[in-house]
Amino acid sequence: MSEQQNAETLRALSDIDVSILRIKKQLDELPHKQQILEVRQKSKELELKALQVQQMANEVARTLVLLSDETQHSDEQIAHAQSVLDKTNEYRETSNLVAEIEMLATRKAQLEEDSLIQMEKQEKIAGVGAQVAEAARKLEAEEQAYTDAYRDAGGRLKQEIFDLQHAREALVATLPENLARDYLSAVEKKTGIGAAHLIDNRCSGCFCTLSEGQLAKLFEGPLIGICPNCNRILVTVATQEAG
Ligand SMILES: [Zn+2]
Repeated sequence: MSEQQNAETLRALSDIDVSILRIKKQLDELPHKQQILEVRQKSKELELKALQVQQMANEVARTLVLLSDETQHSDEQIAHAQSVLDKTNEYRETSNLVAEIEMLATRKAQLEEDSLIQMEKQEKIAGVGAQVAEAARKLEAEEQAYTDAYRDAGGRLKQEIFDLQHAREALVATLPENLARDYLSAVEKKTGIGAAHLIDNRCSGCFCTLSEGQLAKLFEGPLIGICPNCNRILVTVATQEAG
């Protein structure tokens, strides 16, 4: 391999390094991740709401049982008073029993009214409960959709990274051993970018603008130099691409 060819290989590697870094960043910043977290937060809030609705429903159910017991007790008292009334002819006892039965009947009517109010409440709570359950189902479906989208997009990006890494390996294999070693060690130490090239007098690895003196020195030397700022392999081969 000539120096020119090695320089071109490293120039191609520097592009691959940047691409891999860019795709990794995209992977980290996939919007679905944030969306999934937001949906989960909403689900948590809904779970709390569902719990509150359940507690309200339980309380109403308990109240209804109490009212029903008390109504039954009233019925028994009324029946008892009635049976006594049926057997007596005594005026005073009769009027007392009639008054008692009236009072018990009024109490029973009140209990029945209270029961109706509680039943209406129960119906409303059941409605809210159904709404909460429906919202929870929707959120669950939303989370699933975001998760699928994240997996799809993430899978594509991961595949791109995999392919680029493969291309990188193939290119590295064509480099002389010492150059390949320097490049790979730089990839490891320098945030994934092992080789750099010049874009508008800037190093593509560290984005530092090089001074005229530094540039002159680089152009005087071999095509494969070192960035005076970040120490990455710096290819000074002229490329047709505009930076
Ligand atoms: Zn640099």
